[in-house]
Amino acid sequence: MTAQTASVAAEAAAILGRLGVAPALYTGGSLISRSPVTGEETGRLPVATPNDAEAAILRAEAAFKAWRLVPAPRRGELVRLLGEELRATKADLGRLVSIEAGKSVSEGLGEVQEMIDICDFAVGLSRQLYGLTIATERPGHRMMETWHPLGVVGVITAFNFPVAVWAWNAALALICGDAVIWKPSEKTPLTALATQAILARAVARFGAAPEGLAQLLVGAGDIGAALVDSPKVALISATGSTRMGRIVGPKVAARFGRSILELGGNNAGIVCPSADLDMALRAIAFGAMGTAGQRCTTMRRLFVHDSVAEALVPRLKKAWETVSIGNPLSSQALVGPLVDKHAFDAMQAALQAAQALGGKVTGGERVSGIAGDAAYYVRPALVEMPAQVGPVLEETFAPILYVMTYRDFDAVIEAHNAVGAGLSSSIFTTDLREMEVFLSAAGSDCGISNVNIGTSGAEIGGAFGGEKETGGGRESGSDAWKGYMRRATNTINYSRELPLAQGVVFDI
Ligand code: NAD
Repeated sequence: MTAQTASVAAEAAAILGRLGVAPALYTGGSLISRSPVTGEETGRLPVATPNDAEAAILRAEAAFKAWRLVPAPRRGELVRLLGEELRATKADLGRLVSIEAGKSVSEGLGEVQEMIDICDFAVGLSRQLYGLTIATERPGHRMMETWHPLGVVGVITAFNFPVAVWAWNAALALICGDAVIWKPSEKTPLTALATQAILARAVARFGAAPEGLAQLLVGAGDIGAALVDSPKVALISATGSTRMGRIVGPKVAARFGRSILELGGNNAGIVCPSADLDMALRAIAFGAMGTAGQRCTTMRRLFVHDSVAEALVPRLKKAWETVSIGNPLSSQALVGPLVDKHAFDAMQAALQAAQALGGKVTGGERVSGIAGDAAYYVRPALVEMPAQVGPVLEETFAPILYVMTYRDFDAVIEAHNAVGAGLSSSIFTTDLREMEVFLSAAGSDCGISNVNIGTSGAEIGGAFGGEKETGGGRESGSDAWKGYMRRATNTINYSRELPLAQGVVFDI
């Protein structure tokens, strides 16, 4: 073990200690956690068993029955306190995100800021869980809808946003009156322990939250499956690969449960003849290389109009050849490590497949000398493709940008939409018509469509999610809260008659 790698594990332990996580929660167990920064082991966590999951679900069910009766603005107070605790611990938790997910320091802190933002949003929302009053066709009647708490919410999260996605779900679920059980990624369990400890501080200050209101189950897919299979879990919010969603979605549907599926993306940008190329260059570089290509919204495909290809593509290649790659904890590098060897192998396989189909690859090689053999740093790859074929049609969770040229605007929209995923999209243009068509019913088929910004870096105020193989779920802002509640339509008769709807007569 080098001095450098030892310090990563030691730093993680020091942060966990400051946040009040007992060492017994991350030592002596069977789940090995590693930092992609160095590849070094950072913990051995005891994992939950299916019996533990069942017990947690029962506790959550009891907690839900009490919590649903607490007025929503009061529930908001717990989330307000959580936001305060996150503000106080932002530096530590952000650093731990960087250690465990390999993000740059600024991205690690940004992830915690996103948690704080959704807490603020949810607190406001706790006084705004509005239903409609609806015009009724019957005299002396009133019709309205009421939103009620839903039940136990199972939150399954991916490694690449190890804590923000929990917060998107938990902040809303808690103000909506639900109980939450979190199954974090087995690749990032330490940040989950830290977040749970921060939540515990908020719960202690709040004073009267029912026991078992927000629990954590550490483990792999089998523990996620225990939540997925339980009819006592009203909603499964699952974030991860489309492969996982293909298993989880049908299982939840088969028991008539509700699911929010936030799955893979294959996000594209289109650069039009009128685009501001300086702006496009920066947006594409961040969208494709930021977080080492490990965002669900990472830009993976780029369509450049023939007339600007010569002006843009060489500049992109230069950016790819010169972008700084390094240890995110000890440098200002813009690109950190891949999460593990599996991600590296998948990237190399995709690049080979692209080359076999005529792709010209810039970059993509492993970068050594940063943090030893157990860490996987790569130079992001830019691949000039003759057509949208083979690996271009799939999400490879690594920094590969496939660049293609186009001539016809209608054809490029069609090509843009001709992949399985439908998460995020962007167009670079100053032509009002192109912009509006892209955003129209005949334009991008994604859940997120942007103009003159990249595909990644969404704010919490909007509903987040995508269509098709991305799963159709929506989380975070706008009216995503409705997914965490059940709607009741109420009709009240304050007359002395009993008129039936649709003029039906049934006199006895
Ligand atoms: P993954 O699918 O390997 O794992 C995600 C989570 O699902 C983990 O917690 C895992 O334990 C759990 N899981 C796996 N199999 C399961 C099963 N059968 N039943 C229940 N749970 C199961 O994904 P990952 O590698 O951690 O994350 C990367 C993927 O996540 C990418 O495809 C990325 O696009 C996607 N992602 C999507 C969003 C979004 O909002 N759309 C956000 C982040 C990541």
